[in-house]
This record gives sequence, C-alpha cells and structure tokens, in this order.
Amino acid sequence: MNFRTVYKVHSALTYGGIFMMIAGVFASQLDLGDIVYFLEGCGFTVAVIGVVFGKIFYKCPYCKSRLKLTESNPDYCPKCGKKLKDL
Ligand SMILES: [Zn+2]
Repeated sequence: MNFRTVYKVHSALTYGGIFMMIAGVFASQLDLGDIVYFLEGCGFTVAVIGVVFGKIFYKCPYCKSRLKLTESNPDYCPKCGKKLKDL
C-alpha cells in the first residue's frame, strides 16, 4: 500500500471516529438513548484504530522509517532524505 493511501485511510478513520463521537454528544443532548453509547463507543474505537493504523503503516517507502502523522504530504523523508513528492 502506498504511503499516501495509508495517510488517507488513517485520516478517514481518525476524523470519522471523531465525527461519530461529536455526533454522540449531540445525540446525548437530544436524549436519543442507546445510540449515544453506540456512537461514542464506535467513534472512539474507530479513531483509535485510525491512529494505530497510521502509526504502524505510514512509512517512508525507501527506508521504512515512520513518517510524522502531523505531516500529510512530506516532500522528503526526514530520515533518509529521499524525495517523496512525486511518488
Ligand atoms: Zn526514508
């Protein structure tokens, strides 16, 4: 899997999970019952999976060192210095 694809999956899971937790907060305000626990529980789980997924698989394709999750689109690998921009 391409490191950019990994980043997209990581972002989708992490932000999707956070979005579900926020939806859970609104659901609790509206007194929607059990769906609140579902949204909070699933949202938290999905967000954690997203972060762990990124931590494990977001790597430089050359030297396999981990890239920073705060940098979505690095031009160069901070470790080996190879160009990642046009990959
Ligand atoms: Zn590298």
